[in-house]
Amino acid sequence: MYHSTRGKSGELSSAEAIIQGLAADGGLFVPEEIPAVDEAFITSLVPLRYEERAEKVLRLFLTDYTADEVKGCVERAYGSGKFDTEKRAPVRMLDTDNILELWHGPTSAFKDMALQLLPQLMSTALHKTGEQHKVLILVATSGDTGKAALEGFRDVPGISIMVFYPEGGVSKIQRLQMLTQEGANVNVTAVRGNFDDAQNGVKKIFSDKEFNAKLESENVRLSSANSINWGRLVPQIVYYFSAYADLLEAGKIKPGDEINFSVPTGNFGDILAGYYAKLMGLPVHKLICASNANNVLTEFLRSGTYDRNRPFYKTITPSMDILISSNLERLLYHMTDDASAVRKWMRELQQKGSYTIPADLLQKIQQTFWADWEDDAATKHMIEEAYTDQGYVPDTHTAVAWKAAENYRETTGDDRCMVVVSTASPYKFNQSVLSALHVSTEGLDEFGLLDALQEKNNDPVPQGLASLRKKEIRHTDVCDKDHMPEAVFAFAVKK
Ligand SMILES: *Cc1c(COP(=O)(O)O)cnc(C)c1O
Repeated sequence: MYHSTRGKSGELSSAEAIIQGLAADGGLFVPEEIPAVDEAFITSLVPLRYEERAEKVLRLFLTDYTADEVKGCVERAYGSGKFDTEKRAPVRMLDTDNILELWHGPTSAFKDMALQLLPQLMSTALHKTGEQHKVLILVATSGDTGKAALEGFRDVPGISIMVFYPEGGVSKIQRLQMLTQEGANVNVTAVRGNFDDAQNGVKKIFSDKEFNAKLESENVRLSSANSINWGRLVPQIVYYFSAYADLLEAGKIKPGDEINFSVPTGNFGDILAGYYAKLMGLPVHKLICASNANNVLTEFLRSGTYDRNRPFYKTITPSMDILISSNLERLLYHMTDDASAVRKWMRELQQKGSYTIPADLLQKIQQTFWADWEDDAATKHMIEEAYTDQGYVPDTHTAVAWKAAENYRETTGDDRCMVVVSTASPYKFNQSVLSALHVSTEGLDEFGLLDALQEKNNDPVPQGLASLRKKEIRHTDVCDKDHMPEAVFAFAVKK
């Protein structure tokens, strides 16, 4: 059963928690008990396909789903030719490090790992709980999440999805990815305004009781797909186990050996999934939390004070340009088992923008977490070094984690097997990557940039990006930020 990080009242099944998203008291859903696995379980994963590994791990958490339901969800998410590699989440084993590539899904970013499965879990949950309404997913996006959500929810029964993006606020390739989106249940609308306008518009719609009642009378219920939903977190636990199994299979480690993961971190969802894997019994020594100049997490994990009152920087790792890491709340809960303390810190964060945890708790967190941050110059330098020394081209986010891993090794002397979590294809952030490799990008359009990077990189341009050249534009809706409710209503009642 699942309950809120801010209080033990109200227990939900995983299906209910996935439908509801956020707990009524504003907290996040956490499992009451963390399932434990032994060495035999872990070694049993070695000969399995990714989908089978996923089934075994997910069933431990989704105990209200039948075995067939979990299998069906996993096969539809990962099994049907949407990923461009057999392994789904392969580990690239290089001289010094191992790179866990989480970007072989349809949108070339790690969000696919979760957003391919969440819609399946949600659709099945609606069926299980006998929900009669049609569900409409609303998303405001600054780029990557919108596209990954569209791909995940397209043509999923009982659910439709509407994505708002700031008209001039996403990259050309991100815009093209969304405007060419296929599927009978999708809508993409540009908002005249910036990302905050789009996000505030969506938030207002969610909290407008009258508007929601009006939708309800049309048999439509709103829901969200954001990264605090348990159904987005739980798929991510799988690839930590899968990476370990791959390292066992390759003889890089022996059963029981501890390994480290370095994770480029924004909302703290990816790295938290690694922590769940460790709690379950996966032999993980350290989780390295890698940030960019928005280093609020580095400071927190070093000093115990979380302080969002600081300048906000736009960096070459935009998916980590975040000052509030929502999923950290789950870590605090599991580390303390104290909902009232979590409630107090979250209230302080809301009211004054900061909170401080006690020294003994900080020490406990530091037994597992190590933190570091890199500026843009160090990130680019790491890309160049990886390319020159190991012939591998990482994206900017991956480079941040890689550099943090190097710093960790240097600082601590710990040379356990290291896995760098790679969260995007370098082609997705081609301009910054090319600049790091000293390739001139002058006069190149988006496709020219892809071609230029292709000349440096051994891996081909992912199909989803290469095919954009030929795809037809299907979505041209634009609306004022004050007219988002009307746009939602029109799409909601459209047959
Ligand atoms: C979302 C994202 C991250 C951050 O992941 P969190 O789970 O939010 O910490 C890192 N890199 C890329 C490319 C992403 O899209």
